[in-house]
Amino acid sequence: MDCCRHVNPFRACSVLRGLGYLMLAFVAAIVAVSYYAVVVYTWGPLLLGGGGAAAGAAAVLLAFHLLLAMIIWCYLMVVFTDPGAVPENWRHTSEEDDIDVNSRIISDNWDATYPASDGQSAQRYCSRCQNGKPPRCHHCSVCNRCVLKMDHHCVWVVNCVGARNYKYFLLFLVYTFIETVLDILVLLPNFIEFFRDESKRSSSPGDIAILFLAFVLNLAFALSLVCFIGMHTSLVTRNTTSIEVHEQRNSVSWKYDLGWRKNLEQVFGTKRLLWFLPLYSTEDLHNISALHGLEFPTRSDAVV
Ligand SMILES: [Zn+2]
Ligand SMILES: [Zn+2]
Repeated sequence: MDCCRHVNPFRACSVLRGLGYLMLAFVAAIVAVSYYAVVVYTWGPLLLGGGGAAAGAAAVLLAFHLLLAMIIWCYLMVVFTDPGAVPENWRHTSEEDDIDVNSRIISDNWDATYPASDGQSAQRYCSRCQNGKPPRCHHCSVCNRCVLKMDHHCVWVVNCVGARNYKYFLLFLVYTFIETVLDILVLLPNFIEFFRDESKRSSSPGDIAILFLAFVLNLAFALSLVCFIGMHTSLVTRNTTSIEVHEQRNSVSWKYDLGWRKNLEQVFGTKRLLWFLPLYSTEDLHNISALHGLEFPTRSDAVV
Protein backbone atom coordinates (compact mmCIF):
# COMPACT_ATOMS: atom_id res chain seq x y z
CA MET A 1 0.00 0.00 0.00
CA ASP A 2 3.00 2.25 0.49
CA CYS A 3 3.21 3.05 -3.20
CA CYS A 4 -0.33 4.46 -3.06
CA ARG A 5 0.84 7.20 -0.73
CA HIS A 6 2.89 8.68 -3.55
CA VAL A 7 -0.09 8.96 -5.89
CA ASN A 8 -1.63 12.39 -5.66
CA PRO A 9 -5.23 12.33 -6.89
CA PHE A 10 -5.18 16.11 -7.15
CA ARG A 11 -3.04 15.87 -10.28
CA ALA A 12 -6.52 15.72 -11.81
CA CYS A 13 -7.41 19.15 -10.43
CA SER A 14 -7.46 20.91 -13.76
CA VAL A 15 -9.83 18.18 -14.97
CA LEU A 16 -12.06 18.90 -11.95
CA ARG A 17 -12.02 22.60 -12.76
CA GLY A 18 -13.08 21.86 -16.33
CA LEU A 19 -15.74 19.48 -15.07
CA GLY A 20 -17.17 22.34 -12.99
CA TYR A 21 -18.00 24.36 -16.08
CA LEU A 22 -19.56 21.29 -17.67
CA MET A 23 -21.71 20.94 -14.53
CA LEU A 24 -22.85 24.56 -14.91
CA ALA A 25 -24.08 23.77 -18.42
CA PHE A 26 -25.75 20.61 -17.07
CA VAL A 27 -27.55 22.58 -14.32
CA ALA A 28 -28.77 25.11 -16.90
CA ALA A 29 -30.03 22.27 -19.12
CA ILE A 30 -31.95 20.63 -16.24
CA VAL A 31 -33.57 23.96 -15.33
CA ALA A 32 -34.52 24.55 -18.99
CA VAL A 33 -36.04 21.06 -19.38
CA SER A 34 -38.00 21.37 -16.10
CA TYR A 35 -39.19 24.85 -17.04
CA TYR A 36 -40.48 23.67 -20.40
CA ALA A 37 -42.19 20.60 -18.93
CA VAL A 38 -43.88 22.40 -16.01
CA VAL A 39 -44.52 25.93 -17.28
CA VAL A 40 -44.78 25.74 -21.06
CA TYR A 41 -46.14 22.24 -21.62
CA THR A 42 -48.35 21.24 -18.66
CA TRP A 43 -49.44 24.10 -16.36
CA GLY A 44 -49.03 27.30 -18.43
CA PRO A 45 -51.80 26.42 -20.96
CA LEU A 46 -54.25 25.75 -18.07
CA LEU A 47 -54.10 29.46 -17.15
CA LEU A 48 -55.96 30.28 -20.37
CA GLY A 49 -58.87 27.94 -19.54
CA GLY A 50 -60.21 29.99 -16.60
CA GLY A 51 -62.07 28.61 -13.58
CA GLY A 52 -60.66 26.38 -10.83
CA ALA A 53 -58.04 24.83 -13.12
CA ALA A 54 -56.59 28.26 -13.89
CA ALA A 55 -56.46 29.17 -10.18
CA GLY A 56 -54.66 25.88 -9.41
CA ALA A 57 -52.25 26.47 -12.29
CA ALA A 58 -51.56 30.02 -11.06
CA ALA A 59 -50.68 28.67 -7.60
CA VAL A 60 -48.37 26.00 -9.06
CA LEU A 61 -46.65 28.47 -11.37
CA LEU A 62 -46.22 31.02 -8.58
CA ALA A 63 -44.61 28.42 -6.31
CA PHE A 64 -42.42 27.18 -9.18
CA HIS A 65 -41.14 30.67 -10.02
CA LEU A 66 -40.63 31.67 -6.38
CA LEU A 67 -38.53 28.56 -5.74
CA LEU A 68 -36.62 29.09 -8.99
CA ALA A 69 -35.81 32.66 -7.93
CA MET A 70 -34.57 31.41 -4.52
CA ILE A 71 -32.45 28.70 -6.19
CA ILE A 72 -30.84 31.20 -8.56
CA TRP A 73 -30.26 33.71 -5.74
CA CYS A 74 -28.64 31.09 -3.46
CA TYR A 75 -26.66 29.62 -6.34
CA LEU A 76 -25.19 32.99 -7.32
CA MET A 77 -24.36 33.66 -3.66
CA VAL A 78 -22.48 30.35 -3.35
CA VAL A 79 -20.62 30.86 -6.62
CA PHE A 80 -19.63 34.50 -6.08
CA THR A 81 -19.04 34.59 -2.30
CA ASP A 82 -15.45 33.98 -1.32
CA PRO A 83 -15.58 31.02 1.12
CA GLY A 84 -12.79 32.71 3.09
CA ALA A 85 -9.10 33.30 2.46
CA VAL A 86 -6.33 33.40 5.06
CA PRO A 87 -4.97 36.95 5.47
CA GLU A 88 -1.39 37.33 4.28
CA ASN A 89 1.25 36.51 6.89
CA TRP A 90 -1.40 35.21 9.26
CA ARG A 91 0.19 33.54 12.29
CA HIS A 92 -1.13 31.81 15.38
CA THR A 93 -0.92 34.02 18.41
CA SER A 94 -1.03 31.70 21.41
CA GLU A 95 2.01 29.96 22.86
CA GLU A 96 0.48 26.57 22.23
CA ASP A 97 -0.01 27.46 18.59
CA ASP A 98 3.62 28.56 18.22
CA ILE A 99 4.77 25.17 19.47
CA ASP A 100 2.47 23.60 16.93
CA VAL A 101 3.88 25.65 14.09
CA ASN A 102 7.45 24.68 14.96
CA SER A 103 6.80 21.02 15.52
CA ARG A 104 4.23 20.25 12.94
CA ILE A 105 5.32 21.85 9.69
CA ILE A 106 4.33 19.12 7.31
CA SER A 107 3.40 19.03 3.70
CA ASP A 108 -0.33 19.21 3.21
CA ASN A 109 -0.62 17.96 -0.33
CA TRP A 110 -3.25 15.63 1.01
CA ASP A 111 -4.97 18.06 3.25
CA ALA A 112 -8.30 18.49 1.52
CA THR A 113 -9.23 14.85 1.47
CA TYR A 114 -6.73 13.19 3.77
CA PRO A 115 -6.51 15.20 6.98
CA ALA A 116 -3.99 14.44 9.72
CA SER A 117 -4.35 10.82 10.73
CA ASP A 118 -3.66 11.51 14.41
CA GLY A 119 -7.15 12.87 14.83
CA GLN A 120 -6.29 16.54 15.24
CA SER A 121 -6.86 19.44 12.91
CA ALA A 122 -3.31 20.26 13.76
CA GLN A 123 -1.66 21.18 10.52
CA ARG A 124 -1.01 24.75 11.53
CA TYR A 125 1.13 25.86 8.61
CA CYS A 126 0.51 25.49 4.90
CA SER A 127 3.73 24.79 3.04
CA ARG A 128 2.03 25.45 -0.27
CA CYS A 129 0.65 28.88 0.62
CA GLN A 130 3.67 29.57 2.87
CA ASN A 131 1.27 30.92 5.45
CA GLY A 132 -0.18 30.02 8.84
CA LYS A 133 -3.41 28.06 8.95
CA PRO A 134 -6.21 29.15 11.28
CA PRO A 135 -8.18 26.41 13.05
CA ARG A 136 -10.56 24.43 10.79
CA CYS A 137 -8.81 25.76 7.67
CA HIS A 138 -7.74 23.40 4.89
CA HIS A 139 -5.83 23.70 1.67
CA CYS A 140 -7.93 23.11 -1.44
CA SER A 141 -5.88 21.68 -4.24
CA VAL A 142 -8.47 22.63 -6.87
CA CYS A 143 -8.57 26.33 -5.85
CA ASN A 144 -4.86 26.06 -5.02
CA ARG A 145 -5.18 28.01 -1.76
CA CYS A 146 -6.20 27.60 1.85
CA VAL A 147 -9.92 27.95 2.54
CA LEU A 148 -11.34 28.95 5.94
CA LYS A 149 -13.50 26.26 7.59
CA MET A 150 -13.41 24.36 4.33
CA ASP A 151 -16.23 21.88 3.88
CA HIS A 152 -15.50 20.63 0.38
CA HIS A 153 -14.75 21.81 -3.13
CA CYS A 154 -18.02 21.70 -5.02
CA VAL A 155 -17.84 21.09 -8.76
CA TRP A 156 -21.50 22.06 -9.14
CA VAL A 157 -20.84 25.61 -8.02
CA VAL A 158 -17.23 25.86 -9.31
CA ASN A 159 -16.17 27.10 -5.88
CA CYS A 160 -15.09 25.90 -2.50
CA VAL A 161 -17.71 25.73 0.23
CA GLY A 162 -16.33 27.24 3.41
CA ALA A 163 -16.94 29.58 6.36
CA ARG A 164 -18.56 32.42 4.41
CA ASN A 165 -20.75 30.62 1.87
CA TYR A 166 -21.78 27.39 3.66
CA LYS A 167 -25.22 28.77 4.60
CA TYR A 168 -25.87 29.76 0.97
CA PHE A 169 -24.84 26.29 -0.15
CA LEU A 170 -27.23 24.63 2.32
CA LEU A 171 -30.12 26.88 1.26
CA PHE A 172 -29.33 26.10 -2.36
CA LEU A 173 -29.62 22.37 -1.57
CA VAL A 174 -32.89 22.80 0.33
CA TYR A 175 -34.64 25.01 -2.25
CA THR A 176 -33.47 22.77 -5.10
CA PHE A 177 -34.87 19.77 -3.23
CA ILE A 178 -38.27 21.46 -2.67
CA GLU A 179 -38.38 22.49 -6.34
CA THR A 180 -37.61 18.96 -7.55
CA VAL A 181 -40.36 17.54 -5.29
CA LEU A 182 -42.80 20.15 -6.61
CA ASP A 183 -41.84 19.26 -10.21
CA ILE A 184 -42.40 15.55 -9.53
CA LEU A 185 -45.81 16.18 -7.95
CA VAL A 186 -47.10 18.52 -10.66
CA LEU A 187 -45.82 16.38 -13.54
CA LEU A 188 -47.14 13.16 -12.03
CA PRO A 189 -50.81 13.53 -13.18
CA ASN A 190 -49.70 13.99 -16.81
CA PHE A 191 -47.35 11.10 -16.49
CA ILE A 192 -50.01 8.74 -15.12
CA GLU A 193 -52.56 9.90 -17.68
CA PHE A 194 -50.12 9.25 -20.50
CA PHE A 195 -49.65 5.62 -19.49
CA ARG A 196 -53.32 5.01 -18.64
CA ASP A 197 -55.15 6.51 -21.58
CA GLU A 198 -53.70 5.88 -25.04
CA SER A 199 -56.33 8.07 -26.73
CA LYS A 200 -54.88 11.14 -25.03
CA ARG A 201 -51.43 10.68 -26.50
CA SER A 202 -51.87 13.58 -28.88
CA SER A 203 -48.65 15.32 -27.87
CA SER A 204 -45.65 15.42 -30.15
CA PRO A 205 -42.85 12.89 -29.47
CA GLY A 206 -40.55 15.81 -28.60
CA ASP A 207 -42.89 17.07 -25.87
CA ILE A 208 -43.32 13.58 -24.44
CA ALA A 209 -39.54 13.09 -24.41
CA ILE A 210 -39.05 16.37 -22.51
CA LEU A 211 -41.85 15.51 -20.04
CA PHE A 212 -40.29 12.09 -19.45
CA LEU A 213 -36.77 13.53 -19.14
CA ALA A 214 -37.89 16.26 -16.71
CA PHE A 215 -39.71 13.73 -14.53
CA VAL A 216 -36.80 11.29 -14.36
CA LEU A 217 -34.15 13.99 -13.79
CA ASN A 218 -36.16 15.62 -11.01
CA LEU A 219 -36.78 12.26 -9.37
CA ALA A 220 -33.07 11.37 -9.52
CA PHE A 221 -32.09 14.76 -8.09
CA ALA A 222 -34.68 14.61 -5.31
CA LEU A 223 -33.42 11.20 -4.21
CA SER A 224 -29.75 12.18 -4.20
CA LEU A 225 -30.48 15.53 -2.54
CA VAL A 226 -32.39 13.93 0.31
CA CYS A 227 -29.26 11.93 1.20
CA PHE A 228 -27.01 14.96 0.87
CA ILE A 229 -29.33 17.18 2.95
CA GLY A 230 -29.55 14.46 5.61
CA MET A 231 -25.75 14.31 5.79
CA HIS A 232 -25.36 18.10 6.05
CA THR A 233 -28.13 18.38 8.65
CA SER A 234 -26.14 15.99 10.79
CA LEU A 235 -22.93 18.00 10.17
CA VAL A 236 -24.51 21.40 10.96
CA THR A 237 -26.21 20.26 14.15
CA ARG A 238 -22.88 18.88 15.40
CA ASN A 239 -20.92 21.96 14.20
CA THR A 240 -18.58 20.00 12.01
CA THR A 241 -17.57 19.88 8.36
CA SER A 242 -17.30 17.11 5.78
CA ILE A 243 -13.50 17.12 6.27
CA GLU A 244 -13.60 17.26 10.07
CA VAL A 245 -15.82 14.18 10.30
CA HIS A 246 -12.68 12.15 9.48
CA GLU A 247 -10.68 13.98 12.13
CA GLN A 248 -13.20 13.27 14.87
CA ARG A 249 -12.74 9.51 14.86
CA ASN A 250 -10.24 9.65 17.70
CA SER A 251 -11.84 12.54 19.59
CA VAL A 252 -13.75 11.87 22.77
CA SER A 253 -15.85 14.97 22.27
CA TRP A 254 -15.84 17.58 19.55
CA LYS A 255 -14.66 20.88 20.99
CA TYR A 256 -16.68 23.01 18.55
CA ASP A 257 -19.98 21.31 19.39
CA LEU A 258 -21.87 23.96 21.36
CA GLY A 259 -25.26 22.21 21.34
CA TRP A 260 -27.51 22.05 18.27
CA ARG A 261 -29.18 25.45 18.71
CA LYS A 262 -25.91 27.37 19.00
CA ASN A 263 -24.39 25.22 16.25
CA LEU A 264 -27.18 26.23 13.88
CA GLU A 265 -26.67 29.89 14.78
CA GLN A 266 -22.98 29.59 13.92
CA VAL A 267 -23.97 28.86 10.32
CA PHE A 268 -27.40 30.47 9.83
CA GLY A 269 -27.12 33.49 12.17
CA THR A 270 -29.28 34.45 15.15
CA LYS A 271 -32.15 36.09 13.22
CA ARG A 272 -34.63 33.29 12.55
CA LEU A 273 -36.32 35.12 9.65
CA LEU A 274 -33.02 35.39 7.81
CA TRP A 275 -32.40 31.64 8.17
CA PHE A 276 -34.33 31.14 4.94
CA LEU A 277 -32.56 33.82 2.91
CA PRO A 278 -28.93 33.89 1.72
CA LEU A 279 -28.25 36.93 3.92
CA TYR A 280 -26.95 37.81 7.38
CA SER A 281 -27.85 40.76 9.58
CA THR A 282 -25.07 43.32 10.08
CA GLU A 283 -25.17 42.45 13.78
CA ASP A 284 -24.55 38.74 13.12
CA LEU A 285 -21.75 39.49 10.67
CA HIS A 286 -20.14 41.56 13.39
CA ASN A 287 -20.76 39.25 16.35
CA ILE A 288 -20.43 35.69 15.00
CA SER A 289 -16.71 35.00 14.67
CA ALA A 290 -17.36 31.67 12.89
CA LEU A 291 -18.70 33.62 9.89
CA HIS A 292 -15.29 35.28 9.51
CA GLY A 293 -13.64 31.87 9.68
CA LEU A 294 -10.54 32.75 11.71
CA GLU A 295 -11.71 32.03 15.27
CA PHE A 296 -14.34 29.66 16.60
CA PRO A 297 -15.92 29.40 20.04
CA THR A 298 -15.21 26.09 21.75
CA ARG A 299 -16.92 24.28 24.59
CA SER A 300 -15.07 24.51 27.84
CA ASP A 301 -15.70 20.90 28.86
CA ALA A 302 -14.44 19.30 25.67
CA VAL A 303 -11.79 16.62 25.91
CA VAL A 304 -9.93 16.45 22.62
ZN1 LIG B 1 -2.70 26.43 1.62
ZN1 LIG C 1 -11.68 24.64 -3.75
